[in-house]
Amino acid sequence: MRMVDIIVRKRDGGALRRDEIAFVTAGVTAGTIPDYQVSALLMAMLLRGMNDEETAALTEAMVASGHRVDLSSIPGVKAGKHSTGGVGDKTSIVVVPLVAACGVPVPKSSGRALGHTGGTIDKLESIPGFRVSMDRESLLAQVREIGCAFVGQTADIAPADKKLYALRDVTGTVESIPLIASSIMSKKIGEGTDVLVLDVKVGRGAFMKTAEDARRLAKTMVAIGARVGLRTEAVLTAMDAPLGNAVGNALEIRECVDTLAARGPRDLEALCLTLASRMVYLASGGTDLRSAETRVREALHSGAALHTFREVVTRQGGDPRIVDEPGVLPAAADTRPFGGDTSGYVTAIDAERIGRASMALGAGRDRVDAAIDPAAGLVLHAKPGDRVEAGVPLLTMHLGRDARIDEAVALLDGAITIGTEPPPARPLVIDIVDGSN
Ligand code: URA
Repeated sequence: MRMVDIIVRKRDGGALRRDEIAFVTAGVTAGTIPDYQVSALLMAMLLRGMNDEETAALTEAMVASGHRVDLSSIPGVKAGKHSTGGVGDKTSIVVVPLVAACGVPVPKSSGRALGHTGGTIDKLESIPGFRVSMDRESLLAQVREIGCAFVGQTADIAPADKKLYALRDVTGTVESIPLIASSIMSKKIGEGTDVLVLDVKVGRGAFMKTAEDARRLAKTMVAIGARVGLRTEAVLTAMDAPLGNAVGNALEIRECVDTLAARGPRDLEALCLTLASRMVYLASGGTDLRSAETRVREALHSGAALHTFREVVTRQGGDPRIVDEPGVLPAAADTRPFGGDTSGYVTAIDAERIGRASMALGAGRDRVDAAIDPAAGLVLHAKPGDRVEAGVPLLTMHLGRDARIDEAVALLDGAITIGTEPPPARPLVIDIVDGSN
């Protein structure tokens, strides 16, 4: 088989065969196909598209390039979760212990922050002592014993995706729905859970800017899951404004603790309850959503989910005092108020500008190897629909050690729109894609 023939066929709009796709991923993993040929193929795939058969074949070949974790030593139906990423999206840190407290095991692997969106692993590492790397046996033992664990992504799951993603990042070939779907699903399939709930974000602060694109991505991922026996549902959720009020690592952990104690921001709590209920519902056979919702609400309001979170923190080396004494978390030495010039109603908050402002304050990274300050970020005091009064700040900036304050302020100017009337209410959950629709 010759790589050039595969490139030419895709360039001319043909469909690739399963054995050709397997040849490419094996060559990418072994490093035997030069980057220029792989890049040419990726561009042809982006421009010409891929049918469902090719997308599934690429996903399966990327899974086969590495290890599929065997979770069979953990009793019960194991649930996974993935979010396509948003600003202030801290749902995993609430949802994982919440679902585990309902008796459904969740071995959660997550990524780090890059660009204007945060990463679960950076957020958890803002807890003093918290460790996200553990060997597979320790992961299995922890999930067996306390129901859940948080780990960083390991190199042995879908290594072909790691190489392809790095090339896509520098060749303008990220924005292809079949490539995104196969990239995400190869990692989630490799993680070995039995069911999977995807949170596909839509809007200004998200990867997918329109509901139409988000729905296509969701349907593609749900269909891939169905082919490999991983029962998958996708929840399409709005990401125009940040989720919750806190943006920045330690600030978000504090908000997660509040949410697990049933005193968190309404939008964050509502989304966590939805995602957790869908996970419990799927793990219980997918027949009784009402009873899944009841179990999840009970786990939140009884304190069981907060108890599980405390256990996870302790087990992974973190300081459990953060649950009752948030002062133990890293805190910025300096804070500054922002906004408050006008009275009216908040009609919009631009999540992407807020995410980039938080990055400028020190909470995020623009290069994979950049350092972050766990204490940096910002806290919104109003959300869309809220009434605000002149003289009361719209948010507080928490300055990191190397905060670029002027850049943050320039981004924040124009990030929050105030009008004379409240905006029409917009649902946070836009749709559920479960394979039947
Ligand atoms: N996230 C992924 O893991 N892969 C993509 O292709 C895009 C986002």
